[in-house]
Amino acid sequence: MDIALLGIGKIAVDQHVPAIRDSADWDLAATVSRNGSVDGVPAYTDFWQMLEERPEIRVVSLCMPPVPRFDYARKAILAGRHVMLEKPPGATLSECHALEALAREHRVSLYATWHSRQADKVPAAKAWLADKTLKRLRIDWREDVRQWHPGQDWVFEAGGLGVFDPGINALSILTQILPVPVHLTRAELNFPANRETPIAAECTFCHPEGAEVSMVLDWLEPGEPVWTITAETDQGTMVLENGGGTLTVDGQTDESLPGLTGEYPRLYAQMADLVHRGGIDMDLSPLRHVADAFLLGRRVTAPAFDW
Ligand code: NAP
Repeated sequence: MDIALLGIGKIAVDQHVPAIRDSADWDLAATVSRNGSVDGVPAYTDFWQMLEERPEIRVVSLCMPPVPRFDYARKAILAGRHVMLEKPPGATLSECHALEALAREHRVSLYATWHSRQADKVPAAKAWLADKTLKRLRIDWREDVRQWHPGQDWVFEAGGLGVFDPGINALSILTQILPVPVHLTRAELNFPANRETPIAAECTFCHPEGAEVSMVLDWLEPGEPVWTITAETDQGTMVLENGGGTLTVDGQTDESLPGLTGEYPRLYAQMADLVHRGGIDMDLSPLRHVADAFLLGRRVTAPAFDW
C-alpha cells in the first residue's frame, strides 16, 4: 500500500522512514512537511494539494508534534484516508475522541500507536504478571532532555507534555502489562520557572487490589537513561529495563527472541493489519493518566531551564 508520511523530523527520519522502507506492506509514496523531505520521495508542503493530487495514497502517518496533529488527522479522515498517529495520539482526550468518532463515521482505520508497547519484552512481562499478586510497582523514567530532544522547544510549550512525553511511554507499557487498571491519585509536577510544561514529576496510583504503584519522571538525568519498571509480586520480582527491551525475573534474564524485530516495524505491520480489517485502535489509557496528572498535580516551581 502507498503511504504518505507527514512531519518529517526526528522520529520520522530515525524510525518511520526505515520501518516503511524495510516493510513488504508499504511504499513511501509522498511526504508532507514544511521543511523536511526524504530523498527520492515526492515532497509536498501543502497537505490539501497532496490529498487532491494523490488519490491512490489511502494511508497517512502523522509524525508532527501533538498540538498541530489534530488538524492534519481531521483533514485526512474527511478525505477518506486511513490514519496512523504518533504518540501521544492528540494534545487532549477530547481531540482523540473526536477523531475516533470521525473515523467511524467515515469508515476509515485509525491507529493510536504506542511504540513502547512494541518493545521486545513487553509481551513477556504481561504474560509473567498475569497470574501474580502485585505488591509494589515502581516506574523510573529518567533521561537527559538535552540529549533526547535537543532544541525541541515544543516539548516545553503547552500541549507538549514536558517530561510526560517520555513518561507516556512508560504509561503505555504499564497499561499494557497490568492485568487490572490503575488510576492516578496524586502527582507533583515540577515546572521550570520559564517553561509551560513539567521537567520532572512524581505520581502515585490506586491499584484495585491495594498494591503500591508509583512513577518518577526526570528530564535532567545525566548520562545513560533509566527506563525501568520494577514489579514486586507474591512470586518474585520482575524488572523491565531499557524501555521494555530487557526483562529480568529474580535476577534471571529472559533470553527469548521475538519474531519481527523493532518497535516501528511492528507498528507498521499492525497498521497494515488494521487497514486490511477496517479496524480502529484508539486505546487512550496512557494519555488519560497524563491528563489526570495535569488535573490533580500539585505544581512546584523548579529552576529555569535553558538548552
Ligand atoms: P520534531 O522533530 O520536533 O518534529 C517533527 C516534525 O513535525 C518537524 O520536523 C516539523 O517538520 C513538523 N512540525 C513541527 N511543528 C509543526 C507544526 N506546528 N505544524 C506542522 N508541522 C510541524 O519532533 P519528533 O521528535 O519527530 O516528535 C514528533 C512526535 O513523535 C511527537 O509526538 C513525539 O512524542 C513522537 N516521538 C518522538 C520520539 C523521539 O525520540 N524524538 C520518539 C517516539 C515518538 P516541518 O518543519 O518540515 O513541517
